Amino acid sequence: MKCKCTQLKVRIQGHRTDKYFKDFEEIPRDVSPYGYLLKCPNCAQHWVVDFFDKYQHLHAIKVDSPDSANEDYYFKIHKKTLKESSGGYSDKNCIVAGCNNFALNQLMYCADCAINKYHLLETTAVNKSLETASIFKKIFRKVFK
Ligand SMILES: [Zn+2]
Ligand SMILES: [Zn+2]
Repeated sequence: MKCKCTQLKVRIQGHRTDKYFKDFEEIPRDVSPYGYLLKCPNCAQHWVVDFFDKYQHLHAIKVDSPDSANEDYYFKIHKKTLKESSGGYSDKNCIVAGCNNFALNQLMYCADCAINKYHLLETTAVNKSLETASIFKKIFRKVFK
């Protein structure tokens, strides 16, 4: 089987039950909330792949080695991808109290707040999906309470 690992972006939509990851080897490690650590049988690329959960956007993230599969690395990749998908930063301030960063173009928050405070990993989520609309309502409630 030929894989597409090298052509795929560092973060893609995906979860453990996707066909692409079916034959990947699962690398055992300490229990982590961040998904499965998998290894491509073809090119040996490691991926951290989310568990299946229909209420979230699910991601698969490339990692250089099992050791780099840590929280700092995920944050870095999510932040980079979120920034790219929203077309960078706007000239408005992030609306989170006490935050001095600019907001991303398509959000009211900076990437740090979007991810750390609201676990918002997609800009499209805000526009496109109903279930995130309810998450978004919750965010509004939190912010404007
Ligand atoms: Zn591969
Ligand atoms: Zn912020």
